[in-house]
Amino acid sequence: MRKMMKYRLYPTDAQAEALDGQLAEACRLYNAALQERHDAYKREGLSLNYYTQASQLKEIRAEGASALANFSSSQDVLRRVDKTFKAFFRRVKTGAEKPGYPRFKSRRRFDSYTFPSWGDGCRLSDAGRLYLQGVGHLKVKWHRPLDGTVKTVTVKRQAGTWFVCFSVEYVVEALPGNDARVGIDVGLTDFATLSTGETIANPRHYRKAQKTLRIAQRRVARRQRGGRNRRKAVVLLQKAHAHVQNQRADFHHKTARTLMNTYGVIAVEDLRIKGLASGMLAKAVHDAGWSAFFNKLAAKAEEAGRLLVKVNPRGTSQTCLCGAEVRKTLAQRWHQGPACGLSTARDHVSAQLISGLGLSLLGLT
Ligand SMILES: [Zn+2]
Repeated sequence: MRKMMKYRLYPTDAQAEALDGQLAEACRLYNAALQERHDAYKREGLSLNYYTQASQLKEIRAEGASALANFSSSQDVLRRVDKTFKAFFRRVKTGAEKPGYPRFKSRRRFDSYTFPSWGDGCRLSDAGRLYLQGVGHLKVKWHRPLDGTVKTVTVKRQAGTWFVCFSVEYVVEALPGNDARVGIDVGLTDFATLSTGETIANPRHYRKAQKTLRIAQRRVARRQRGGRNRRKAVVLLQKAHAHVQNQRADFHHKTARTLMNTYGVIAVEDLRIKGLASGMLAKAVHDAGWSAFFNKLAAKAEEAGRLLVKVNPRGTSQTCLCGAEVRKTLAQRWHQGPACGLSTARDHVSAQLISGLGLSLLGLT
């Protein structure tokens, strides 16, 4: 399987400048390729493809018009343009959404470029540094060992900080078999409730960070457009956002990992998060980031050889374990079964129902 491994880079000032330069060149090439396609279409009704554009690359480089150090990286930029156009034509064809013609990218928004094959313009030096063509030997924070076979290398600028992302192919080691089954109900008061009755508290990173974000946002708004100080304020805002995102992703990863290690069969709701997120509960739903969590859970389940089943959540909040309908408003957090006398937390009942639905879907009951 493939996975992404991301490490922080510590470039010297000169190297950071070189990295910025490479990004700017990649951006220039991207925009030029876009322009060329646009012109060809306008003038002659021609639709250029990747190969026609890539065939000119040698000449362009010979003229010195593209200073992106690595040839394959230049090709990769053109491939990106090709991808955007293909997606555009696909949207035009289906007509389902607004097609949105591919746009030029601003230098500041163009924040990554890729070395499509490991060893071509990028390699590790003996001292554990990362060599990038046109930049030099960069210091890397190896916070975890790089395992698997490196396929591609992407250099990224995020909130004023540099990272390298290795796309690696690795052999999956399935976890030892496990029969333990669990249903998970995601909620607003707690992040999740398990059918075992255990609850996982909601960390609410976003709420806590909201004050900081608001201050950072206001600082940006007060600074003059196009000014140097505004740009600095934007970087601080990006940093604040990145911090919240990192915290959330970390929480999701750890929670998913614990569940994978404990259970062999996991049932979750097939949430139409979108429908929920547009309503009044938007902030809380967004905060919890359930869909992002489920995605991580699914990826880990596949990797570990676990069963993850999504069930239709309809009725799971309004039904008792005995099958009787028990209506509850959203504010009612406690379940009281009038017929069977079951008395427990509302989400606990839901989690058990989800577990049951999952098992019957899998034919395990
Ligand atoms: Zn009941």
